[in-house]
Amino acid sequence: MSRVAYVNGTYRPHSQAVVHIEDRGFQFADGVYEVWSVFDGKLADYAGHMERLGRSLTELRIEIPMTAQALGVVLRETIRRNKVRDGIVYLQITRGTAPRDHAFPKGVAPSVIVTAKSIDLHKGEKNAEKGVAGITHPDIRWGRCDIKTVGLLPNALAKQAAREKGAYEAILFDEMGMVTEGSSTNAWIVDENGKLRTRDTQANILRGITRAAIMKLVKEEGIELDERPFSVEEAKKAKELFVTAASSFVMPIVSLDGEKIGDGKPGPIATRLRSVYVEQAIRDAI
Ligand code: PMP
Repeated sequence: MSRVAYVNGTYRPHSQAVVHIEDRGFQFADGVYEVWSVFDGKLADYAGHMERLGRSLTELRIEIPMTAQALGVVLRETIRRNKVRDGIVYLQITRGTAPRDHAFPKGVAPSVIVTAKSIDLHKGEKNAEKGVAGITHPDIRWGRCDIKTVGLLPNALAKQAAREKGAYEAILFDEMGMVTEGSSTNAWIVDENGKLRTRDTQANILRGITRAAIMKLVKEEGIELDERPFSVEEAKKAKELFVTAASSFVMPIVSLDGEKIGDGKPGPIATRLRSVYVEQAIRDAI
């Protein structure tokens, strides 16, 4: 089936969907993005991702080019035109195209790009049942990781390092040896004492929408959560280690740098949270 992308007001065949060479997304990584998972053609955690998009745009002073409602129409139309039932929809908004100059251009319309693709939910489910491998990697990103920018080179380098070692995710750590997050996920442990922990959002991390949804579920499930940094060492000694993201939901990591986590199998908390998260995300998708 031929894929279709939305680019600045028009739907084009994916192979012909282009932005200008002087788009600031390309020249300066001057843009933001969002990712929604799609269940049965509907968007999961719709409002949360929309709100974070608004915040990212505000932080970078990129004027939202259309209303959130109009954006929602485009997201859904792109999903429909690509006949995506279960999958992912991506939205990129850059400051737009202008002659190259570091400072912001005046009177330039932002670029808006939407793409959608189908994914095989069973493959993710199989990964989650067995658990996946992780590696640790230094966090070399800039100081505003709370803004979801398209400047993902350090994340790409970390993910590549993981792939080269046959691992699913790179768990990033700061100069103190404390885990920040994954290269494209938030990181959690059930520590040696059985306490669920994830890094607080005062730290230089992305405020994951899946992280926020899981935090709500954790409360409903009566599980105590400690939003407190943990070290690589603590992660390696943890009973459970898992990561969360819109594209992978809750994914148990069963080895880190080749060292077994817990008994080397997905733990009960990650397994439970994955199943209740997915159930709720499907139910609440709009
Ligand atoms: N951290 C980083 C660095 C990410 O790229 C992502 C996914 N985009 C996440 C965390 C998870 O965020 P979300 O749950 O909103 O997908």
